[in-house]
Amino acid sequence: MKYCSRCGGAITRNIPPGDTRERYVCTQCGEVFYENPRMIVGSVPEWEERLLLCRRAIEPRLGLWTLPAGFLENGETTAEGAGRESEEEVGAPVTIGPPLILVNLPRIHQIHLFYLGRLEKLPSSPGHETLETGLFTETDLPWTELAFPSVRLTIEYYFQKRRERRGFPFHIHDLRIERTLQPVAK
Ligand SMILES: [Zn+2]
Repeated sequence: MKYCSRCGGAITRNIPPGDTRERYVCTQCGEVFYENPRMIVGSVPEWEERLLLCRRAIEPRLGLWTLPAGFLENGETTAEGAGRESEEEVGAPVTIGPPLILVNLPRIHQIHLFYLGRLEKLPSSPGHETLETGLFTETDLPWTELAFPSVRLTIEYYFQKRRERRGFPFHIHDLRIERTLQPVAK
């Protein structure tokens, strides 16, 4: 950020009066631009006894498998965002169920929230961010080709709870990694 979106003045970094952290501050009008974590919402879409994954058609992690998810937009609820992202990436409607897991990623300033999802019909063609979709059981899932640690964590939790057959209690996990862009091979 170099110029103020309010007045066009130059931006600097400093600690505003009464604050405790460095912020982007406009040198002309004094506007403070706060940076806060971003929320990623998605789903764990089930089809009969299998889980749907999307193979990424975009960077980062192009060609690797992920759960459908994306940035929450202004004006939508987390469940609405999860449904929208799922339908866009899968190419078929996904009914959003209860929340399954929230993953805090404080090092990269993100929060990932995944809902249980039910695939309403098999996709004929995926969205433009997806190369292909696949339906997997726990044993034939591409464990060594998953795109993100939070996705691996979510899928592991999902199958663990399914094996235990006592429902899916909402779980909060803190993942203190430097970046999401690192190898996730098991
Ligand atoms: Zn300004």
